[in-house]
Formats: sequence, C-alpha cells, structure tokens
Amino acid sequence: MSGSHNILRDTWIYIDSQENSMTLIKPTDTNKKTDLLSLTLPQLQQWLRERGEPTFRAKQIYNWLYQQLVTDFSAMTNLPQALRNRLAEEVCIGPMIVRSEQHSKDDRTRKILLELEDNRLIESVLMLYPPLGEASSRATVCVSSQAGCAFGCTFCATGQMGFERHLSAGEIVAQVLYFARELRTVPWTAAGLPGSKAIDHITNIVLMGMGEPLHNYDNVLQALHILNSPDGFNLGARHMTVSTVGVVPAIRKLSQESLQINLAISLHAPTDELRSQTMPVNRKYPLQELFAACKDYIAATKRQVTFEYVLLSGVNDTPTHARQLAELLAPLKQFAHVNCIPVNATAADYHTPGPDAIRTFRNVLFEHGISNSVRAERGDDIAAACGQLRTRFEQNSPK
Ligand code: SAH
Ligand code: SF4
Repeated sequence: MSGSHNILRDTWIYIDSQENSMTLIKPTDTNKKTDLLSLTLPQLQQWLRERGEPTFRAKQIYNWLYQQLVTDFSAMTNLPQALRNRLAEEVCIGPMIVRSEQHSKDDRTRKILLELEDNRLIESVLMLYPPLGEASSRATVCVSSQAGCAFGCTFCATGQMGFERHLSAGEIVAQVLYFARELRTVPWTAAGLPGSKAIDHITNIVLMGMGEPLHNYDNVLQALHILNSPDGFNLGARHMTVSTVGVVPAIRKLSQESLQINLAISLHAPTDELRSQTMPVNRKYPLQELFAACKDYIAATKRQVTFEYVLLSGVNDTPTHARQLAELLAPLKQFAHVNCIPVNATAADYHTPGPDAIRTFRNVLFEHGISNSVRAERGDDIAAACGQLRTRFEQNSPK
C-alpha cells in the first residue's frame, strides 16, 4: 500500500504503510465561509430565509449532512441546482483536512489529527467496543473542544501546550461526522468475534479530547445541541459526556440547563494540597467549592456524576489516598462513580501503577461502598492520551 492513492468519498488519501497513517487533502478552500456544521436547524432556517429560500430546505440539508453524511453539495439531489451552487459558494461543511490517521494494532482505537482553517491541529479518537453480555457494540468519539488548553495539568500533554483557541461548534461537530462517515463506509466488527454484529454508526461522544469543554461553554453546548437534533444526527443526550477539570461557575450554569448529558469531573487527588500540585485549577476552585457545586448539580439534575481519577504511581494511588477519596465522596452516596484511569505516560515523569496497586486502590473504594471502574488502557501504540499524537507529530515534522 505504501505510496498508493485511494479515493475515500471525495477526498484523496495518502496512505503511508510504515507509519500506518493517512493524509487527506481536500481540494476546495474553506476559507471565510459560513460553516454549516456550526448552525442549529433554526439558524439554518434563518440563513435560508435571509436569502429568500424556503425554510423547509433546512430539514433537507440537515438530512443530507447528518443522516446521509454527504460532504459535497452536488450530492444534495433534492435541492434545486441554483441552491446547491449558492451553498457551494457561500458555505462549507466543517474542516476536513486530516493530516494523520492512525489505527491501533487491534483496530479498536483510531486517532486523527484534524487541521483547522488556521492550520492548527486538534486530535479526535474513535474507540470501538465489542458487544459485552447484554450490551451491544459501542463506537465512542472522544472529541476536542479547544486547540491546546489553559489549565496546565501536569500529567496532560495538551496542558503542556498552553491555550491556543476555542473550537467553533462546527469544528466540534466535524470530528464526530468524520468518524461517522468512516464507519458508514466500512462498518467495524471486532476481530476474533465472528458472528458479532458490525457497527456502522456512532453511539456515544465524550468531550475528553484536547481542551476544557466548560471553558468553551457556548460552542460546546451548541455542538451538543446540533448533534442531538432529531432532524439531524439524532444522538441522545444520555449518550454524551462532558468532562471538566472543575470550572465551578460553569458546572453551576450547566446544572440549570435541564440537559440529560453526563457529567464527569476530573478529580485526580483527594486533598487540596495534592490536587493543587498536579492541577493548578484547584487553587482557584478548591475541593470544598467543587464539591458544593457537584452536590447542587446532583440535586438539580438527579443524575450521577463520574469522578475521573488518573492513577499516578506513587503520587496519588496509595490505599491512604483511596480512603481519603472514599471519605470525600461519601456525602454524595450513590450519585458518585469513580473511573480509575492508569496514566498514559507523557513527557512528564509519571508512571502507570502496576495491576496490584490498581486492584488495592479499587478494593478500598469498594469497601467504602464507592462504585468504581477502571478504564481499559487502549491505543498505547498510537499515543492515545489527549495531546500526545499532536505532540509526537510536531516533534517529527520538519520545522
Ligand atoms: N479538560 C477536560 C477534558 C479533557 S481531558 C478534563 O480535564 O476533564 C480528559 C481526561 O483525560 C481528563 O480526566 C484528564 O485528566 C485525562 N488525562 C489527561 N492527561 C492524561 C494522561 N496522560 N493519562 C490519562 N488520562 C489523562
Ligand atoms: Fe486541560 Fe483537561 Fe489536560 Fe487539564 S487534563 S490540561 S483541563 S485538557
């Protein structure tokens, strides 16, 4: 395959077999055009109205974009040619230049580097899960909300880049659509599970890529709203998760939105002293304030909150830390779930705990009645932790 050119939809792909990576080059320039993927259905109706077009065209366009997953206006065959021409001139369909695509050896994790119109690079990851017991297969997209991040957590590759800019709603939506198109074109079946049903659509999205979603509150909510639209992508809010470093005012605002989305809080330490060392945000919003906001969020939404806990060997993973964590979460009772995440090694000097340390940590939580799970490590061979692919890509690119 090395050096061959394949056509995928209307895009050229260059596949480099040694790197197991691809480059997509979109021939058209998307500069300064309105991005259709940034518009809610009422906004698209308004856009059409302002141009003297009938508003029922908005639902047709939404159907082409989010159900037929087309990338080209010429494919929108139930629109008059004049409108198709106008769309081609005035709007675009999100960023589409993928500078690199990597698949893990087991093909359960795929990662892309998406180039934005100002040439910035962001990462998105597709995680594929085979059916397990009663549960059917899942295809989860881990979406970026910003280029870089302002919060500087010490274990996070994105945090080490600093903040570049917020992503638009369309740039967030585009990440999901890219993988949706890919799965539609070639549905995925877990290798070694013959007979299991192929999965051809996205079932979940998590805002756990680059950036802090609640720092880009309006665009993130707009993107979720667009993806939720029954006339478009129609992904249920319960299948969406926002992960936050703990921006207290934004958590409070979110609790008032009457949304069914899931909230995950990056906790990563059970005491202020330790949390402030690894997560500078804790100096602004210490644990007491964070937990007051979480309690109010639970009271307002009646929804469980997930607490993410990156396990850093020798730093926050001892039985004492587990006991402190259990005590911290005790007042939230059955509304708290802990997701233990063995750290993915980055440039920073942190190490993943061994299986015994992880088991002991979790057992202490269980003994205190705290429900918990451990995130299976995946995609290590493609630098799957957030920010790692871009970091590696830039280190290897000629300056
Ligand atoms: N900014 C948000 C969402 C993006 S990060 C947040 O911090 O929650 C998504 C998750 O990945 C967070 O829980 C984050 O702490 C975690 N993470 C960051 N660096 C990591 C690493 N090197 N290994 C494992 N998880 C990491
Ligand atoms: Fe930003 Fe989240 Fe990384 Fe912290 S963990 S630096 S908040 S992306």
